[in-house]
Amino acid sequence: MTAEPAFGEAMLRRGAGVVDHRMARRHLINEFRRGRLRPDQVCDAHPELIRAATNVGAPASVPCPICQEPALRLVTYVFGPRLPAHGRCVSTAAELAKLDVRTDEFTAYVVEACVECRWHHLLRALPLGGRRARRTG
Ligand SMILES: [Zn+2]
Repeated sequence: MTAEPAFGEAMLRRGAGVVDHRMARRHLINEFRRGRLRPDQVCDAHPELIRAATNVGAPASVPCPICQEPALRLVTYVFGPRLPAHGRCVSTAAELAKLDVRTDEFTAYVVEACVECRWHHLLRALPLGGRRARRTG
């Protein structure tokens, strides 16, 4: 069982360049369960992230690893040229696909956030766009 965003499936199957952060996530959760990290050390999501998770987050297929509530949401932020410095929160597959056909190179970050206890973690980063961008040197 993994917490995959449905709209990210097609992108993920492309494979190349995807950076998976699930190992780091598991490590953090283990440290918490062993009592080496306090809840306030792992549940400190920015209010803006919690707001995005509440409003546009996709429900995760697993419960929160910290509080066990079914309150885990997946939020995707895209960074790149002509996007806001804090990234653009993308909530639909159509929007992601639109960025993916552009010549500009973007990076999408899939973040999970718990709207109950404010646990959050980066799940993975994946490249988008860059079509024809490497044609000339
Ligand atoms: Zn939680």
